[in-house]
Amino acid sequence: MTTINFSAGPGALPKSVLKQIQSELFSYKNSGASVMELSHRSSEIIELIEETVEGFKRLLELDDDWEVMLLQGGGTLQFSMVPLNLSREGDLIEYADTGYWSKKAINEAKLCKRKVSVVGFGSDIDTSLPVIDSACTSGSARYLHLCSNNTVEGTQFRDFPDIGTPLVLDVSSDMLSYRMNLDNVSCIYAHAQKNIGLSGLTVVAVRKKYILENNDIPQLLQYRSHIESKSNYHTPPVFSIYVANLMQKWLENEIGGVAAMEEINNQKAKLLYDSIDASNMFRCPVGVNYRSKMNIVFTTGHEETDDKFVAFCKERNIIGVAGHRSQKRLRASLYNAVTIEDVKALTEVISLFEKQAYVYSSHAQFK
Ligand SMILES: *Cc1c(COP(=O)(O)O)cnc(C)c1O
Repeated sequence: MTTINFSAGPGALPKSVLKQIQSELFSYKNSGASVMELSHRSSEIIELIEETVEGFKRLLELDDDWEVMLLQGGGTLQFSMVPLNLSREGDLIEYADTGYWSKKAINEAKLCKRKVSVVGFGSDIDTSLPVIDSACTSGSARYLHLCSNNTVEGTQFRDFPDIGTPLVLDVSSDMLSYRMNLDNVSCIYAHAQKNIGLSGLTVVAVRKKYILENNDIPQLLQYRSHIESKSNYHTPPVFSIYVANLMQKWLENEIGGVAAMEEINNQKAKLLYDSIDASNMFRCPVGVNYRSKMNIVFTTGHEETDDKFVAFCKERNIIGVAGHRSQKRLRASLYNAVTIEDVKALTEVISLFEKQAYVYSSHAQFK
């Protein structure tokens, strides 16, 4: 019996994708060799890279102003590659502080010797999001950085502000989960291991005109190097690109595209939030207007009871519901590969846990 995976990352993969990987592991496209062994200069792999870049452009609905790069180093390396390529030393850049990952991005940008201004704080980042508008920004920054989905806190921006300053988005945990409006955006980045495949691959999409000439940074860190060499500047993470390619085909052919995925993700999130809100034992601490549709944070309000719930889930083959190590809460991540049936199974376990706690424990904690 396989488990249902609600892990925050690496996330679940569709069974059909895993089966396809298994079926062609020894011979990729009848080449007689595994995709892991083929040269990155072979026609098969050059074609795979091109097709995957095109796939992301199509799924993200990007026009020819944009370049898509397939890189390594995770979301974390983009915390420095973004300031290095889209600004110069001493330039003003603005960052919204919305939680764990945005703080890391802020720290890295500072290490790049940029003038980093943190905007829009003041709200409780564990339960809400700050308002980002032209009143809180200078209007003269190179860009404003936002983490679109705060994976740890369970908050999500769905409408991106139009403040005149181009936006850079860390979309690591919600890329391709819904149709994002990128009108005011100059750059997005996401590693693949949450919604679009495996770790090892990081996808960066940038509007060409925002890339600055910065010849004083190492070649490997320059977006130009990767654009000019068509994401084959050095040995790329071929296997992760291959899996991302299969994920694109799954999304387009089995799900029906990003709009259809959005519909399913809306249903999944509603199911789980409704069941938490209806429960007498669990609650979601995040305000209704800020709730993420990808990472759903909830708690009984008691650490021990939360831990018991994690064990209770595990006995029923449900894994990945413990919260981030920085937070003493529960979290279920509803990435693209998680199905509506998976979420239903979790809501059933939530009500079963509640019933059993009510029957067996006179000390059951209710909100
Ligand atoms: C997980 C995560 C990261 C970190 O990505 P790595 O690939 O582990 O470097 C960055 N940003 C967000 C929003 C994340 O959820």
